[in-house]
Amino acid sequence: IKGTGARYCPSIEDKVVKFAGRASHHVFIEPESACSALNLEYPNGLSCSLPRDVQIEMTRSVPGLERAEFVSFAYAIEYDFYDPRDLYPSLESKILHGLYLAGQVNGTTGYEEAAAQGFMAGVNAALSLKDDPPLVLSRSEAYIGVMIDDLVTKGTNEPYRMFTSRAERRLLLRQGNARYRMIGHARRLRVADEAYMDETEAYQRVIGQEIMRLDSEKISGTTLATRLCRVGVEYAMLPGALGLPPEVVSEIEIQIRYRNYIERENRLAEEAERKEQTKIPDWVDYMAIETIRYEAREKLAKVRPENLGMAARIPGVNPADIAMLSVVISRGGN
Ligand SMILES: Cc1cc2nc3c(=O)[nH]c(=O)nc-3n(C[C@H](O)[C@H](O)[C@H](O)COP(=O)(O)OP(=O)(O)OC[C@H]3O[C@@H](n4cnc5c(N)ncnc54)[C@H](O)[C@@H]3O)c2cc1C
Repeated sequence: IKGTGARYCPSIEDKVVKFAGRASHHVFIEPESACSALNLEYPNGLSCSLPRDVQIEMTRSVPGLERAEFVSFAYAIEYDFYDPRDLYPSLESKILHGLYLAGQVNGTTGYEEAAAQGFMAGVNAALSLKDDPPLVLSRSEAYIGVMIDDLVTKGTNEPYRMFTSRAERRLLLRQGNARYRMIGHARRLRVADEAYMDETEAYQRVIGQEIMRLDSEKISGTTLATRLCRVGVEYAMLPGALGLPPEVVSEIEIQIRYRNYIERENRLAEEAERKEQTKIPDWVDYMAIETIRYEAREKLAKVRPENLGMAARIPGVNPADIAMLSVVISRGGN
């Protein structure tokens, strides 16, 4: 195996090298079948690409597995990938119009990473056939937006895994508000159940109305919203509380309790969004812009970012380069 392995699920031969100082290693024996007669167990923690005789010897060296028999052996695969910087944010190839790529072939690893890209590429291929604008999610709108933006802007030199820590606006990307974040897209694409979309919009309205009410109604000069921020106070304890589903109550409580942080995140997201709105015209000839450092010119010419926000995220491009680029764009020529 010569390729770079997935950093977060190293094989046993990798672990031996990376964690050479460790004296022990956990192996979890996981039943593979509900049928005990089969007696099939999966030794989780021993993934490897070692020769079969070594696998047998290693496994039988684990106390309790001395007489283990193999029905299948561990394996690893090596695969090549397409440089995702040659993709548009719609996941369409920049080289071959109409070709959409998704999943491991774009340099990712993981089930969710593959499924999310598969959905986006499929939707965008269908939209392109209808001459409709592509579905591109922003970094402050969805984790999918973070992943695709990372891939098409920065590329990857090892199997890319999506982590929440890769998103800079994590406070906005909450599990509880996912349906509200996506409702506009769901409506446009008609990809969600009608009743679910109606319910989402109804919940969204009631959340807004309740927050307004809690901000205006007071007890002894203190708004109900301020009271809700006190330790131990819950929405249901406040006068006039409606009998709302728990997920709606939770969203009201979160939006009020963390309001200052969320508003700050929203401001930062709007600032970033303004940069995303500044499109970089096709006529920009990066290599000819001598006021931009050579390294940055090369990187920009390779990626050909769609907007200033993407340009700023390319490793090796600094704020001064972006300032020069925006001057060129506003002047309308090099
Ligand atoms: C041993 C192992 C364990 C893993 N464990 C985990 C895990 O626990 N959690 C996790 O999230 N991820 C795990 N992964 C990673 C994850 O399985 C992959 O990243 C993910 O399944 C990739 O999905 P994909 O659809 O991009 O590619 P694939 O699932 O590889 O799909 C590509 C498909 O294309 C087909 N194909 C190839 N060439 C052609 C052709 N010319 N014509 C037609 N069809 C073709 C292939 O047969 C294949 O079915 C693991 C991977 C391995 C190898």
